[in-house]
Amino acid sequence: MQPLNIPYFQIRQLLDRRELSCVDLVSNHLTVINNKKHLNAFLEVYSEEALARAAGIDLKIKDGKGGKLAGLVVGLKDVLCYKDHRAHAGSKILDGFISQYNGTAVQRLIDEDAIIIGRQNCDEFGMGSSNENSAFGSVLNDIDNTRVPGGSSGGSAVAVQTGMCQVSLGSDTGGSVRQPAAFCGIAGLKPTYSRISRHGLIAYGSSFDCIGIFSKCIEDIALVLEVISGADDFDSTVSRKQVPAYSQELTGKPSKYRIAYLRDALGNKALQPEIKEAITLKIDQLKSAGHRVEAFDFPLNEYMLPTYYILATAEASSNLSRYDGVRYGYRSPATKDLTSMYSRTRKEGFGREVQRRILLGTFVLSASYYDAYYTKAQKVRALIRKEIKKIFEDYDFILMPTTPTTAFELGKHPDNPVELYLADLFSVQANVAGIPAISIPCGKDQQGLPIGLQLMADDFEESKLLQCSKAVLELDLK
Ligand code: GLN
Repeated sequence: MQPLNIPYFQIRQLLDRRELSCVDLVSNHLTVINNKKHLNAFLEVYSEEALARAAGIDLKIKDGKGGKLAGLVVGLKDVLCYKDHRAHAGSKILDGFISQYNGTAVQRLIDEDAIIIGRQNCDEFGMGSSNENSAFGSVLNDIDNTRVPGGSSGGSAVAVQTGMCQVSLGSDTGGSVRQPAAFCGIAGLKPTYSRISRHGLIAYGSSFDCIGIFSKCIEDIALVLEVISGADDFDSTVSRKQVPAYSQELTGKPSKYRIAYLRDALGNKALQPEIKEAITLKIDQLKSAGHRVEAFDFPLNEYMLPTYYILATAEASSNLSRYDGVRYGYRSPATKDLTSMYSRTRKEGFGREVQRRILLGTFVLSASYYDAYYTKAQKVRALIRKEIKKIFEDYDFILMPTTPTTAFELGKHPDNPVELYLADLFSVQANVAGIPAISIPCGKDQQGLPIGLQLMADDFEESKLLQCSKAVLELDLK
Protein backbone atom coordinates (compact mmCIF):
# COMPACT_ATOMS: atom_id res chain seq x y z
CA MET A 1 0.00 0.00 0.00
CA GLN A 2 1.24 3.49 -0.89
CA PRO A 3 1.36 6.20 1.81
CA LEU A 4 -1.98 7.99 1.91
CA ASN A 5 -1.89 11.46 0.49
CA ILE A 6 -4.76 12.77 2.60
CA PRO A 7 -5.07 14.89 5.73
CA TYR A 8 -5.01 13.18 9.11
CA PHE A 9 -8.71 13.86 9.79
CA GLN A 10 -9.56 11.68 6.80
CA ILE A 11 -7.12 9.01 7.93
CA ARG A 12 -8.82 9.16 11.29
CA GLN A 13 -12.21 8.46 9.72
CA LEU A 14 -10.75 5.33 8.13
CA LEU A 15 -9.22 4.30 11.46
CA ASP A 16 -12.47 4.87 13.32
CA ARG A 17 -14.39 2.81 10.75
CA ARG A 18 -11.72 0.10 11.06
CA GLU A 19 -11.00 0.32 7.32
CA LEU A 20 -7.38 0.96 8.21
CA SER A 21 -5.24 0.22 11.26
CA CYS A 22 -2.45 2.19 12.90
CA VAL A 23 -0.23 -0.84 12.37
CA ASP A 24 -0.90 -0.63 8.59
CA LEU A 25 -0.15 3.06 8.66
CA VAL A 26 3.15 2.68 10.48
CA SER A 27 4.14 -0.24 8.23
CA ASN A 28 3.49 1.90 5.17
CA HIS A 29 5.68 4.68 6.44
CA LEU A 30 8.40 2.21 7.41
CA THR A 31 8.38 0.83 3.87
CA VAL A 32 8.92 4.30 2.42
CA ILE A 33 11.69 4.99 4.95
CA ASN A 34 13.35 1.75 3.90
CA ASN A 35 12.96 2.38 0.16
CA LYS A 36 14.37 5.89 0.46
CA LYS A 37 17.25 5.32 2.84
CA HIS A 38 19.61 7.01 0.39
CA LEU A 39 17.99 10.37 1.17
CA ASN A 40 19.48 10.18 4.71
CA ALA A 41 16.40 11.85 6.24
CA PHE A 42 16.31 9.77 9.42
CA LEU A 43 19.17 9.31 11.86
CA GLU A 44 17.24 6.66 13.73
CA VAL A 45 13.98 4.85 13.06
CA TYR A 46 12.00 3.48 15.98
CA SER A 47 10.43 0.63 13.97
CA GLU A 48 9.63 -1.94 16.67
CA GLU A 49 8.56 0.63 19.16
CA ALA A 50 6.31 2.48 16.70
CA LEU A 51 4.64 -0.77 15.60
CA ALA A 52 4.04 -1.82 19.21
CA ARG A 53 2.57 1.56 20.05
CA ALA A 54 0.41 1.43 16.90
CA ALA A 55 -1.03 -1.91 18.04
CA GLY A 56 -1.86 -0.39 21.43
CA ILE A 57 -3.52 2.63 19.86
CA ASP A 58 -5.55 0.38 17.54
CA LEU A 59 -7.05 -1.15 20.68
CA LYS A 60 -7.79 2.27 22.15
CA ILE A 61 -9.53 3.32 18.93
CA LYS A 62 -11.55 0.11 19.00
CA ASP A 63 -12.72 0.99 22.52
CA GLY A 64 -13.56 4.52 21.41
CA LYS A 65 -10.76 5.88 23.61
CA GLY A 66 -8.29 7.11 20.98
CA GLY A 67 -6.79 10.56 21.66
CA LYS A 68 -7.12 13.56 19.39
CA LEU A 69 -4.09 12.46 17.34
CA ALA A 70 -4.56 8.70 17.55
CA GLY A 71 -2.47 7.12 14.82
CA LEU A 72 -0.85 10.34 13.59
CA VAL A 73 2.66 9.30 12.59
CA VAL A 74 5.18 12.00 13.48
CA GLY A 75 8.93 12.41 12.98
CA LEU A 76 11.08 14.58 15.25
CA LYS A 77 13.98 16.80 14.23
CA ASP A 78 17.11 15.77 16.11
CA VAL A 79 16.81 18.80 18.41
CA LEU A 80 13.71 17.63 20.30
CA CYS A 81 14.00 15.65 23.49
CA TYR A 82 12.14 12.34 23.53
CA LYS A 83 12.62 10.42 26.77
CA ASP A 84 15.01 7.47 26.62
CA HIS A 85 15.96 8.32 23.02
CA ARG A 86 19.01 9.99 21.61
CA ALA A 87 19.07 13.69 20.74
CA HIS A 88 22.24 14.89 19.04
CA ALA A 89 21.27 18.15 17.32
CA GLY A 90 23.05 16.85 14.22
CA SER A 91 26.31 17.15 16.15
CA LYS A 92 29.12 14.90 17.21
CA ILE A 93 29.42 16.79 20.48
CA LEU A 94 26.23 15.20 21.81
CA ASP A 95 27.54 11.72 21.02
CA GLY A 96 25.71 9.13 23.11
CA PHE A 97 23.40 11.66 24.79
CA ILE A 98 20.02 10.24 25.76
CA SER A 99 17.10 12.46 26.83
CA GLN A 100 15.91 11.97 30.35
CA TYR A 101 12.56 13.61 29.74
CA ASN A 102 10.07 14.47 27.01
CA GLY A 103 10.00 18.01 25.71
CA THR A 104 6.59 19.60 26.27
CA ALA A 105 5.54 19.48 22.61
CA VAL A 106 6.60 15.83 22.37
CA GLN A 107 4.78 14.97 25.59
CA ARG A 108 1.59 16.60 24.30
CA LEU A 109 1.77 14.62 21.06
CA ILE A 110 2.20 11.40 23.01
CA ASP A 111 -0.65 12.27 25.39
CA GLU A 112 -2.97 12.49 22.36
CA ASP A 113 -1.77 9.13 20.99
CA ALA A 114 0.46 10.28 18.16
CA ILE A 115 3.13 7.74 17.15
CA ILE A 116 6.74 8.90 17.03
CA ILE A 117 8.52 7.11 14.18
CA GLY A 118 12.06 8.43 14.39
CA ARG A 119 14.69 11.09 14.76
CA GLN A 120 15.43 13.27 11.73
CA ASN A 121 18.69 14.60 10.32
CA CYS A 122 19.37 18.35 10.46
CA ASP A 123 22.12 20.97 10.30
CA GLU A 124 24.23 20.95 13.43
CA PHE A 125 22.38 22.86 16.17
CA GLY A 126 20.05 24.21 13.48
CA MET A 127 22.81 26.28 11.88
CA GLY A 128 22.48 26.10 8.14
CA SER A 129 20.15 26.41 5.19
CA SER A 130 21.01 23.27 3.22
CA ASN A 131 21.40 20.42 5.71
CA GLU A 132 25.03 20.13 4.60
CA ASN A 133 26.23 21.08 8.09
CA SER A 134 25.07 17.86 9.74
CA ALA A 135 27.74 15.71 11.37
CA PHE A 136 25.79 12.77 9.93
CA GLY A 137 25.93 13.68 6.25
CA SER A 138 23.74 15.68 3.90
CA VAL A 139 20.08 14.99 3.25
CA LEU A 140 19.02 14.73 -0.41
CA ASN A 141 15.95 16.32 -1.92
CA ASP A 142 13.68 13.58 -3.27
CA ILE A 143 12.69 15.66 -6.29
CA ASP A 144 16.29 15.81 -7.49
CA ASN A 145 18.94 13.90 -5.57
CA THR A 146 21.70 16.29 -6.66
CA ARG A 147 19.96 19.10 -4.77
CA VAL A 148 19.65 20.09 -1.13
CA PRO A 149 16.34 19.86 0.74
CA GLY A 150 17.01 23.16 2.53
CA GLY A 151 17.81 23.47 6.20
CA SER A 152 18.23 23.29 8.93
CA SER A 153 15.23 20.94 9.29
CA GLY A 154 16.02 19.18 5.98
CA GLY A 155 15.40 15.62 7.19
CA SER A 156 12.03 16.62 8.63
CA ALA A 157 10.94 18.23 5.35
CA VAL A 158 12.06 15.29 3.17
CA ALA A 159 10.32 12.85 5.51
CA VAL A 160 6.99 14.59 4.87
CA GLN A 161 7.74 15.19 1.19
CA THR A 162 8.17 11.45 0.58
CA GLY A 163 5.53 10.06 2.96
CA MET A 164 7.96 8.68 5.55
CA CYS A 165 5.64 10.24 8.13
CA GLN A 166 2.47 12.33 8.06
CA VAL A 167 3.83 15.27 10.08
CA SER A 168 7.26 16.38 11.29
CA LEU A 169 8.19 18.72 14.11
CA GLY A 170 11.16 20.93 13.27
CA SER A 171 12.56 24.13 14.68
CA ASP A 172 12.71 27.57 13.09
CA THR A 173 15.18 30.15 14.37
CA GLY A 174 15.64 32.02 11.09
CA GLY A 175 13.65 30.04 8.55
CA SER A 176 14.54 26.41 9.22
CA VAL A 177 10.99 25.16 8.83
CA ARG A 178 9.76 27.46 6.06
CA GLN A 179 12.83 27.30 3.81
CA PRO A 180 13.03 23.47 3.62
CA ALA A 181 9.24 23.33 3.25
CA ALA A 182 9.60 25.61 0.19
CA PHE A 183 12.45 23.52 -1.27
CA CYS A 184 10.50 20.30 -0.80
CA GLY A 185 7.07 21.49 -2.01
CA ILE A 186 5.20 21.10 1.29
CA ALA A 187 3.80 23.43 3.98
CA GLY A 188 5.75 24.57 7.04
CA LEU A 189 4.57 26.82 9.87
CA LYS A 190 6.62 28.87 12.29
CA PRO A 191 4.18 30.07 14.95
CA THR A 192 4.42 33.25 17.01
CA TYR A 193 7.45 33.25 19.31
CA SER A 194 6.27 31.88 22.68
CA ARG A 195 3.19 30.10 21.28
CA ILE A 196 4.79 26.67 21.81
CA SER A 197 6.93 25.80 24.82
CA ARG A 198 10.66 25.45 24.12
CA HIS A 199 11.09 23.01 27.01
CA GLY A 200 12.97 20.07 25.54
CA LEU A 201 14.07 21.93 22.40
CA ILE A 202 17.87 22.06 22.19
CA ALA A 203 18.70 25.78 22.15
CA TYR A 204 20.32 27.71 19.30
CA GLY A 205 19.17 31.35 19.64
CA SER A 206 16.68 31.35 22.50
CA SER A 207 14.95 34.63 21.67
CA PHE A 208 14.30 33.36 18.10
CA ASP A 209 13.83 29.59 18.50
CA CYS A 210 10.35 28.23 17.70
CA ILE A 211 9.13 24.70 17.23
CA GLY A 212 7.48 24.48 13.81
CA ILE A 213 5.26 22.00 12.00
CA PHE A 214 5.59 20.37 8.56
CA SER A 215 2.81 18.66 6.65
CA LYS A 216 1.37 18.44 3.16
CA CYS A 217 -1.97 19.54 4.64
CA ILE A 218 -2.91 22.76 6.42
CA GLU A 219 -5.50 20.80 8.41
CA ASP A 220 -2.76 18.69 10.02
CA ILE A 221 -0.74 21.76 10.92
CA ALA A 222 -3.79 23.36 12.54
CA LEU A 223 -4.57 20.26 14.59
CA VAL A 224 -1.01 19.66 15.77
CA LEU A 225 -0.59 23.35 16.64
CA GLU A 226 -3.75 23.19 18.73
CA VAL A 227 -2.37 20.20 20.66
CA ILE A 228 1.18 21.38 21.34
CA SER A 229 0.65 25.14 21.97
CA GLY A 230 -0.04 26.89 25.21
CA ALA A 231 1.10 27.61 28.75
CA ASP A 232 3.76 25.41 30.28
CA ASP A 233 5.29 25.58 33.74
CA PHE A 234 8.63 24.41 32.32
CA ASP A 235 9.08 27.49 30.10
CA SER A 236 8.53 30.89 31.66
CA THR A 237 8.67 32.63 28.26
CA VAL A 238 5.72 30.73 26.81
CA SER A 239 2.50 32.65 26.34
CA ARG A 240 -0.43 32.00 28.65
CA LYS A 241 -2.82 33.21 25.97
CA GLN A 242 -5.73 30.86 25.33
CA VAL A 243 -5.08 28.39 22.50
CA PRO A 244 -7.83 28.63 19.85
CA ALA A 245 -9.34 25.53 18.28
CA TYR A 246 -7.30 26.10 15.12
CA SER A 247 -8.61 23.01 13.36
CA GLN A 248 -12.26 24.03 13.88
CA GLU A 249 -11.65 27.61 12.85
CA LEU A 250 -10.19 26.51 9.52
CA THR A 251 -13.63 25.83 8.17
CA GLY A 252 -15.03 29.29 8.94
CA LYS A 253 -16.64 31.37 6.24
CA PRO A 254 -14.26 32.73 3.59
CA SER A 255 -13.00 36.27 4.16
CA LYS A 256 -11.66 39.00 1.97
CA TYR A 257 -8.16 39.76 3.16
CA ARG A 258 -5.93 42.82 3.08
CA ILE A 259 -2.49 41.69 1.98
CA ALA A 260 0.71 43.70 1.70
CA TYR A 261 3.62 42.50 -0.37
CA LEU A 262 7.14 43.77 -0.03
CA ARG A 263 8.02 45.65 -3.21
CA ASP A 264 11.69 45.28 -2.43
CA ALA A 265 11.50 41.49 -2.20
CA LEU A 266 9.89 41.11 -5.61
CA GLY A 267 12.33 43.57 -7.16
CA ASN A 268 15.37 42.01 -5.50
CA LYS A 269 18.19 41.12 -7.92
CA ALA A 270 18.87 37.90 -6.00
CA LEU A 271 15.35 36.66 -6.68
CA GLN A 272 15.10 33.86 -9.26
CA PRO A 273 12.90 35.17 -12.12
CA GLU A 274 10.56 32.16 -12.05
CA ILE A 275 9.85 32.78 -8.36
CA LYS A 276 9.02 36.39 -9.13
CA GLU A 277 6.65 35.22 -11.88
CA ALA A 278 4.94 32.64 -9.67
CA ILE A 279 4.41 35.10 -6.82
CA THR A 280 3.20 37.84 -9.17
CA LEU A 281 0.73 35.43 -10.72
CA LYS A 282 -0.54 34.53 -7.26
CA ILE A 283 -0.95 38.19 -6.38
CA ASP A 284 -3.05 38.66 -9.54
CA GLN A 285 -5.16 35.64 -8.68
CA LEU A 286 -5.73 36.96 -5.18
CA LYS A 287 -6.79 40.33 -6.55
CA SER A 288 -9.21 38.71 -8.98
CA ALA A 289 -10.67 36.74 -6.10
CA GLY A 290 -11.55 40.04 -4.41
CA HIS A 291 -8.72 40.38 -1.89
CA ARG A 292 -6.95 43.70 -1.50
CA VAL A 293 -3.28 43.23 -2.35
CA GLU A 294 -0.93 46.20 -2.26
CA ALA A 295 2.81 46.82 -2.40
CA PHE A 296 4.63 48.35 0.55
CA ASP A 297 8.17 49.54 1.15
CA PHE A 298 10.18 48.55 4.16
CA PRO A 299 13.43 50.51 4.27
CA LEU A 300 14.70 48.57 7.30
CA ASN A 301 14.79 45.41 5.24
CA GLU A 302 18.49 45.71 4.48
CA TYR A 303 19.23 45.39 8.22
CA MET A 304 17.27 42.19 8.62
CA LEU A 305 20.03 39.65 7.92
CA PRO A 306 22.80 41.47 9.83
CA THR A 307 20.51 41.90 12.84
CA TYR A 308 19.64 38.23 12.78
CA TYR A 309 23.19 36.99 12.36
CA ILE A 310 24.57 39.24 15.12
CA LEU A 311 21.92 38.34 17.68
CA ALA A 312 21.49 34.66 16.83
CA THR A 313 25.25 34.01 16.95
CA ALA A 314 25.56 35.93 20.24
CA GLU A 315 22.86 33.77 21.76
CA ALA A 316 24.37 30.64 20.26
CA SER A 317 27.80 31.38 21.72
CA SER A 318 26.22 31.55 25.14
CA ASN A 319 23.86 28.57 24.70
CA LEU A 320 26.57 26.30 23.32
CA SER A 321 29.03 27.02 26.14
CA ARG A 322 27.45 24.13 28.06
CA TYR A 323 29.01 21.59 25.68
CA ASP A 324 32.32 21.35 27.43
CA GLY A 325 33.03 17.62 27.60
CA VAL A 326 31.99 17.50 31.25
CA ARG A 327 28.23 17.50 31.21
CA TYR A 328 27.11 15.99 27.93
CA GLY A 329 28.13 13.65 25.16
CA TYR A 330 31.55 13.71 23.59
CA ARG A 331 34.85 14.24 25.43
CA SER A 332 38.15 14.26 23.57
CA PRO A 333 40.32 11.33 24.64
CA ALA A 334 43.55 13.23 23.89
CA THR A 335 43.59 15.74 26.74
CA LYS A 336 46.29 16.57 29.28
CA ASP A 337 44.53 18.97 31.63
CA LEU A 338 41.26 20.81 32.15
CA THR A 339 41.93 23.54 29.60
CA SER A 340 43.00 21.16 26.88
CA MET A 341 39.95 18.99 27.63
CA TYR A 342 37.63 21.94 27.00
CA SER A 343 39.41 23.16 23.92
CA ARG A 344 40.03 19.79 22.26
CA THR A 345 36.52 18.57 23.02
CA ARG A 346 34.96 21.64 21.46
CA LYS A 347 37.35 21.64 18.51
CA GLU A 348 36.72 17.97 17.71
CA GLY A 349 33.05 17.93 18.69
CA PHE A 350 31.71 20.97 16.82
CA GLY A 351 31.69 21.29 13.04
CA ARG A 352 33.20 24.26 11.20
CA GLU A 353 30.03 26.31 10.84
CA VAL A 354 29.15 25.98 14.51
CA GLN A 355 32.68 26.99 15.50
CA ARG A 356 32.46 29.97 13.16
CA ARG A 357 29.23 31.12 14.77
CA ILE A 358 30.51 30.66 18.31
CA LEU A 359 33.52 32.81 17.41
CA LEU A 360 31.33 35.44 15.77
CA GLY A 361 28.91 35.46 18.70
CA THR A 362 31.71 35.69 21.25
CA PHE A 363 33.19 38.58 19.30
CA VAL A 364 29.97 40.62 19.21
CA LEU A 365 29.51 40.03 22.94
CA SER A 366 33.09 40.92 23.86
CA ALA A 367 33.60 44.00 26.06
CA SER A 368 35.11 46.16 23.32
CA TYR A 369 32.48 45.43 20.68
CA TYR A 370 29.36 44.79 22.73
CA ASP A 371 27.82 48.23 22.23
CA ALA A 372 28.85 48.53 18.60
CA TYR A 373 27.26 45.23 17.60
CA TYR A 374 25.11 43.53 20.18
CA THR A 375 23.43 46.58 21.72
CA LYS A 376 22.95 48.19 18.33
CA ALA A 377 21.43 45.04 16.85
CA GLN A 378 19.02 44.82 19.80
CA LYS A 379 17.90 48.37 19.09
CA VAL A 380 17.46 47.65 15.39
CA ARG A 381 15.48 44.54 16.24
CA ALA A 382 13.10 46.58 18.43
CA LEU A 383 12.70 49.12 15.62
CA ILE A 384 12.01 46.43 13.02
CA ARG A 385 9.34 44.89 15.22
CA LYS A 386 7.72 48.27 15.80
CA GLU A 387 7.61 49.06 12.08
CA ILE A 388 6.27 45.62 11.19
CA LYS A 389 3.53 45.93 13.80
CA LYS A 390 2.49 49.16 12.08
CA ILE A 391 1.94 47.30 8.81
CA PHE A 392 -0.54 45.06 10.58
CA GLU A 393 -2.64 48.11 11.49
CA ASP A 394 -3.62 48.28 7.82
CA TYR A 395 -3.13 44.73 6.58
CA ASP A 396 -3.93 41.18 7.68
CA PHE A 397 -0.87 39.60 6.07
CA ILE A 398 2.51 40.26 4.57
CA LEU A 399 3.19 38.18 1.48
CA MET A 400 6.69 37.35 0.23
CA PRO A 401 8.56 34.59 -1.51
CA THR A 402 9.91 32.16 1.10
CA THR A 403 13.32 31.92 -0.56
CA PRO A 404 15.28 33.82 -3.22
CA THR A 405 15.97 30.62 -5.20
CA THR A 406 14.59 27.12 -5.50
CA ALA A 407 16.57 24.14 -4.15
CA PHE A 408 20.21 24.57 -5.13
CA GLU A 409 22.82 21.92 -5.86
CA LEU A 410 24.68 20.12 -3.10
CA GLY A 411 28.13 21.63 -2.56
CA LYS A 412 27.21 24.90 -4.28
CA HIS A 413 28.49 27.15 -1.46
CA PRO A 414 31.45 25.27 0.02
CA ASP A 415 33.79 28.14 0.85
CA ASN A 416 31.51 31.08 1.26
CA PRO A 417 29.22 30.98 4.28
CA VAL A 418 27.85 34.46 3.59
CA GLU A 419 26.47 33.25 0.25
CA LEU A 420 24.52 30.63 2.15
CA TYR A 421 23.31 33.18 4.73
CA LEU A 422 21.59 34.95 1.81
CA ALA A 423 19.29 31.94 1.49
CA ASP A 424 17.61 33.32 4.63
CA LEU A 425 16.98 36.73 3.08
CA PHE A 426 13.19 36.49 3.27
CA SER A 427 12.77 34.16 6.20
CA VAL A 428 14.58 35.86 9.11
CA GLN A 429 12.12 38.76 9.20
CA ALA A 430 9.44 36.73 11.01
CA ASN A 431 11.96 35.55 13.62
CA VAL A 432 13.44 38.99 14.16
CA ALA A 433 9.91 40.34 14.74
CA GLY A 434 8.63 37.21 16.54
CA ILE A 435 5.52 36.96 14.35
CA PRO A 436 3.98 33.81 12.84
CA ALA A 437 4.77 32.83 9.24
CA ILE A 438 4.04 29.95 6.93
CA SER A 439 5.43 28.68 3.64
CA ILE A 440 3.02 27.01 1.23
CA PRO A 441 3.66 25.58 -2.24
CA CYS A 442 3.27 28.00 -5.15
CA GLY A 443 4.08 26.27 -8.41
CA LYS A 444 7.41 25.08 -9.80
CA ASP A 445 10.33 26.51 -11.71
CA GLN A 446 11.36 25.34 -15.19
CA GLN A 447 13.31 22.45 -13.74
CA GLY A 448 10.29 21.23 -11.81
CA LEU A 449 11.63 22.45 -8.46
CA PRO A 450 9.01 23.70 -5.99
CA ILE A 451 8.51 27.38 -5.19
CA GLY A 452 7.36 28.55 -1.75
CA LEU A 453 5.05 31.45 -0.97
CA GLN A 454 5.33 32.96 2.47
CA LEU A 455 2.58 34.61 4.48
CA MET A 456 3.19 36.40 7.78
CA ALA A 457 0.61 37.61 10.24
CA ASP A 458 0.46 39.65 13.42
CA ASP A 459 1.25 38.01 16.80
CA PHE A 460 -1.03 35.09 17.65
CA GLU A 461 -2.98 35.31 14.39
CA GLU A 462 -2.20 31.71 13.44
CA SER A 463 -5.86 30.94 12.95
CA LYS A 464 -6.26 33.61 10.30
CA LEU A 465 -2.90 32.66 8.79
CA LEU A 466 -3.96 29.05 8.34
CA GLN A 467 -7.35 30.04 6.94
CA CYS A 468 -5.69 32.31 4.39
CA SER A 469 -3.16 29.61 3.48
CA LYS A 470 -5.99 27.26 2.68
CA ALA A 471 -7.71 29.93 0.63
CA VAL A 472 -4.52 30.63 -1.33
CA LEU A 473 -3.97 26.93 -2.01
CA GLU A 474 -7.57 26.57 -3.14
CA LEU A 475 -7.12 29.34 -5.74
CA ASP A 476 -5.24 26.78 -7.79
CA LEU A 477 -8.18 24.41 -7.71
CA LYS A 478 -10.61 27.00 -9.05
N1 GLN B 1 19.55 29.25 8.12
C1 GLN B 1 19.46 30.00 9.33
C2 GLN B 1 20.71 29.86 10.15
O1 GLN B 1 21.56 29.19 9.70
C3 GLN B 1 18.25 29.60 10.10
C4 GLN B 1 18.43 28.38 10.86
C5 GLN B 1 17.25 28.01 11.70
O2 GLN B 1 16.15 28.53 11.53
N2 GLN B 1 17.52 27.12 12.65
O3 GLN B 1 20.85 30.41 11.19
